[in-house]
Amino acid sequence: MRGCILAMTLLISTPIIATEIENNEVDGFDKAAINLTDIKPVLNRIAKHPAITLQQLGRSYHSQPIYALDIGSGTTKVMMWSQMHGDENTATAALMDFLDFITLPENANWLQSWQDKLTLRIIPMINPDGAKAQTRHNAQGIDLNRDAKALRSPEGQTLMRAAKEFKPDFGFNLHDQNAYYGAGKKGNQATISVLAPAYNDAREINTSRGEAMQLIAHLAKTIETMIPGHLAKYNDSYSYRSFGDTFSEMGIRTILIESGAYPSDPHRQVARKVNRVLYKEIIDTLQNGTWKAASINQYNAIPFNASNNWVDLLIDDVNVQSHYGDYKIDIAINNKGNAPRIKELGDISSIRRGYTQIDANKLVYNPGKGFSLTEPIKLNKRHYKELLKQGYSCFSGDFAKLDNRSHWPVYWCQGAFDSQPKLHASAAFLLYQGQTIKYAVLGSELIKLN
Ligand SMILES: [Zn+2]
Repeated sequence: MRGCILAMTLLISTPIIATEIENNEVDGFDKAAINLTDIKPVLNRIAKHPAITLQQLGRSYHSQPIYALDIGSGTTKVMMWSQMHGDENTATAALMDFLDFITLPENANWLQSWQDKLTLRIIPMINPDGAKAQTRHNAQGIDLNRDAKALRSPEGQTLMRAAKEFKPDFGFNLHDQNAYYGAGKKGNQATISVLAPAYNDAREINTSRGEAMQLIAHLAKTIETMIPGHLAKYNDSYSYRSFGDTFSEMGIRTILIESGAYPSDPHRQVARKVNRVLYKEIIDTLQNGTWKAASINQYNAIPFNASNNWVDLLIDDVNVQSHYGDYKIDIAINNKGNAPRIKELGDISSIRRGYTQIDANKLVYNPGKGFSLTEPIKLNKRHYKELLKQGYSCFSGDFAKLDNRSHWPVYWCQGAFDSQPKLHASAAFLLYQGQTIKYAVLGSELIKLN
């Protein structure tokens, strides 16, 4: 009884302000691109913590350092690596959040609870050159995730050497995926996709791959609680040259986590949050063993990634009037890079969904007119909208005279106007209801005019 009172007094006198991992976000990473100069100050700060060792594992082709942080001294070894593809930034931000969480004084007891059971190695940026250029590939133009066997890149060599020296029991391969995957056919955006990679063409399941599946099945519960309906899994065709598959061959329980899109979340902050929560859950479940209760069947039940399930703009059932005959059609436009084009025509809405989607059943496709550039114009949004309302959708004449300040794309009129939408053509057209122009389409932007 006395002990109880004493313990209660201690609790009251030293209140623990719990910082939930969910809310532990390091400032400055809510942006599209992250490179080494962004993470280096965070790594330097974190490395001051006595439990964390920062080391340089190797160098990139352009001689930028590749860092690793080691925490703990336990027998179960966990390795996580991010940004093997330079333009896949989400998990790197989440790793900064997680590393920061480890160093918080109020989490000292939590850290102490696992640091002699687990050893954690985090490699936050395998491809600093690709990160700097925001390219998938390294500075040699090599896709590092196709270099696990030939090891022609210094980055690939560094990652393989780390795996062979550190000998992880569990490996987490952290990537970003394109925004068009669905969690199952016609499903929500696949905000997180997972995979226990195959180690042979037969896609057999040995003990280590089976255990990777169980751990994923355990983590899936957390993901489904946070973002219901936004979890998917990759198909497990064997990819001989890839790191995940190669590590799986080496007997490492390998888990791929792909961060994806979520509605109105251009910098993938939702996936970032789920990632950092997962990293903590990985530590917790590996030390208490709860993941072993999850089953391979639960892993199998996760819906597959449906590719091209989403498009940026989907115009459903628009009317096309042509002298060859009128018809209804769906138009899908993807804003890939800076050249949005008509990606697909036909029946689209029965299998895909649009980030922006419009029922155009009462609307008529119209290609619009060309506005001839004879004098210099500064095109702001208001001015552009006026032109669209007057039925112009593209420009002709001297393009040098156009100073576009509208943030909407401008299109050069190509050849004769056609009353039909054309596959792979640039997307600039109008949608009429009767005599009224209701909308303009510029790339994947749907602009309401009336
Ligand atoms: Zn990737």
